[in-house]
Amino acid sequence: MKERSRTPQTRKAARERIARLFGLAGGEFAEHPELSNRYVEIARKIAMRQRVRIEKPMSRQYCRRCSSFLVPGQSSRVRVRDGYVVVTCIACKSRRRYPLKGRRKA
Ligand SMILES: [Zn+2]
Repeated sequence: MKERSRTPQTRKAARERIARLFGLAGGEFAEHPELSNRYVEIARKIAMRQRVRIEKPMSRQYCRRCSSFLVPGQSSRVRVRDGYVVVTCIACKSRRRYPLKGRRKA
């Protein structure tokens, strides 16, 4: 469905659709990981068209480079290093770092 216009309503609908696509991606991953990746692509297109941000935690569930749906231990590798969470996409090897928040250093 193409929406040319961009209003608070279409953007709200876009956010809901993105959340639904990530839900579907999570549900399909075990059996059809390629479908999960496809859902991520669709969600990203919607986000771009409507200029909405893909919010946490979904923003961490895909690879920005290749749009793979990331599942720790399966399609991504998660390590903690120097106060950062380092997420590596297994498909394209790109990495992202996120500061460990809500944790004080002892
Ligand atoms: Zn990737």
